[in-house]
Amino acid sequence: MLAVTFQEPGRVALEERPEPRIENAGDAIVKVEAAGICGSDLHIYHGRVPIEQGFTIGHEYVGTVLETGDAVTSIATGDRVLGAFHTACGTCFFCRLGVYQKCDMTRVFGHGATLGSLQGTQAEQTLVPHADMTLRRVPDGLGDGAALFAGDAMATGYHGVVGAGLEAGDTCAVIGLGPVGLCAVMSARVAGASRIRAIDTVAERLEVARSLGAEPVHATEEDPRAAAKAATDGRGLDVVVEAVGDPRALDLACRLARKAGTVSVVGVYAERAEVHMGIVWIKALRLVTGHANVIGHLDSVLALMASGRLDPEPLVTHRMPLQEAAEAYAIYDRREALKIVLEA
Ligand code: NAD
Ligand code: ZN
Ligand code: ZN
Repeated sequence: MLAVTFQEPGRVALEERPEPRIENAGDAIVKVEAAGICGSDLHIYHGRVPIEQGFTIGHEYVGTVLETGDAVTSIATGDRVLGAFHTACGTCFFCRLGVYQKCDMTRVFGHGATLGSLQGTQAEQTLVPHADMTLRRVPDGLGDGAALFAGDAMATGYHGVVGAGLEAGDTCAVIGLGPVGLCAVMSARVAGASRIRAIDTVAERLEVARSLGAEPVHATEEDPRAAAKAATDGRGLDVVVEAVGDPRALDLACRLARKAGTVSVVGVYAERAEVHMGIVWIKALRLVTGHANVIGHLDSVLALMASGRLDPEPLVTHRMPLQEAAEAYAIYDRREALKIVLEA
């Protein structure tokens, strides 16, 4: 089968790989029909998140179940499914706490040996461990493009807002308006945010945020701090979502939040990064970080998507064949696309 593999910073390749086989009774094999490219794939593409050369990348996927192990009960061969970007066992200490992304056995698709050596989903087929936890049937009426958001970008945006404790009436800002940030904007609306400041430097992305009900602020041509103050009688914002993964965005987030506010860091960090602890401390900020609890939010997110209250479909700007993955990565890296769906 064909698979998109990481070669070296700035280069991915299309390679032949053996088809996956069931390894454990809880596994499923999925024929991938649509796979997204995520900002996290860009970190790998840039070499910032290191993985092995030749490893299959990608972690957003929709497809059809080809085969299931004997212990799988919730999905069956022939079902149209989507999956979370991470797996969870369902029975360990952390799963019982409901912190599925920190499951003792969690593995992240397409992130190499550091995150469980689970081959990625930008391929014609993928092995899905703990399929009862990881997969869901696609609700009727939901297209592939929208469905693949549920297992990553939308669940992460939702986690960044609702998982961080935003309550109806709260003010918030989202820094970084890629698919994840824009999904956070949509989730903040659904959660009842009274005002949403949306911050980036890409004009098209600021306009999309406006169309979703946010108030756009250019990160460098305008003054985000003044905008945050103006929205809150000078107090600062209740919740600030950092959806970039860059210390400059994190620093801004800490400055935009009000005293005892929440900074929700869904942007990825793989290295040491400086935070002004004096600001965090004196403002008594709450920092929420880490992988999104996609499995924990998946059923709520799917219900909101099935009813149309969350609709990521307009964020799909490109559909390209899997064979054109190298070109797709280059386009996304230039920020000329929002969500690119690779079709197998
Ligand atoms: P993306 O690359 O499409 O979007 C990032 C956006 O940030 C771009 O629009 C860019 O212009 C903007 N940006 C860059 N520097 C900025 C700055 N200093 N100030 C304001 N805006 C800035 O990525 P995405 O797919 O939307 O993902 C966003 C982040 O979320 C990435 O770091 C990704 O790895 C991470 N992510 C985390 C999880 C998780 O589980 N926590 C899941 C998915 C994605
Ligand atoms: Zn992702
Ligand atoms: Zn577990």
